[in-house]
Amino acid sequence: MILAVVFGLVIGSFLNVVIARVPAHKSLWKPGSSCPGCDAAIVWHDNVPLLSFAALRGRCRRCGITIPWRYPIVEATTAALFGLAHWQFGATPEFVSAALLVSLLVAITGIDLQHQIIPDVISLPGIVAGFIASLATARVSWMESALGIMVGGGTFLVIILASGGGMGGGDMKLGAMLGAFLGWKVVLLTIFIAVVLGGALAVALIASGLRGRKDPIPFGPFLAAGGAVSLFWGERMVRWYLDGFAA
Ligand SMILES: [Zn+2]
Repeated sequence: MILAVVFGLVIGSFLNVVIARVPAHKSLWKPGSSCPGCDAAIVWHDNVPLLSFAALRGRCRRCGITIPWRYPIVEATTAALFGLAHWQFGATPEFVSAALLVSLLVAITGIDLQHQIIPDVISLPGIVAGFIASLATARVSWMESALGIMVGGGTFLVIILASGGGMGGGDMKLGAMLGAFLGWKVVLLTIFIAVVLGGALAVALIASGLRGRKDPIPFGPFLAAGGAVSLFWGERMVRWYLDGFAA
């Protein structure tokens, strides 16, 4: 469990690089991290997940520029999700599949919140990875995974065609990716959770005057949240729902 959390911190640190560089079309590997304020290279002991942010009190050692809260939040969230995955699945292939999915979801959420885009370079390989993960773990059969891609993507295709905007192609590819990992039944639950969460927050934001009726609210983070909930509890929720109606 501790190993899973530490592994999550390290991956979370890498996901911060993904969130900062993928939208700018920069390499993930070169050059090493540097301060956006003074360009100084960040030495390893200033790059330790969570601890360095706390030790530096969120500021660059040289120029004092503020380090965004996004960095520790992404690291802590990834670590918590990895811990949860280990608690649910133990040291199994399912853990690897779950860790991969939550990593993709954290990166997509960070990028969608900042740029209102879901990059194809993450979601499209994510669809393939989800299908392979389903083959490898047998938690979801290959048929359920293939149907999941069609149902997850298709639901958004219908929404896009029916609404003429509002939802983007990025949401459709993310839906397909979630379907590949979770299967067609659980991905329907994911979309349902996302719509409820997104709708509730939209109503709250508009009612409180923080957002206007026409301001765009990215849907990716809600899908990602729905995906994480479904990953851990979806099968049980679907079974409970079906049993309830069969009884
Ligand atoms: Zn600096």
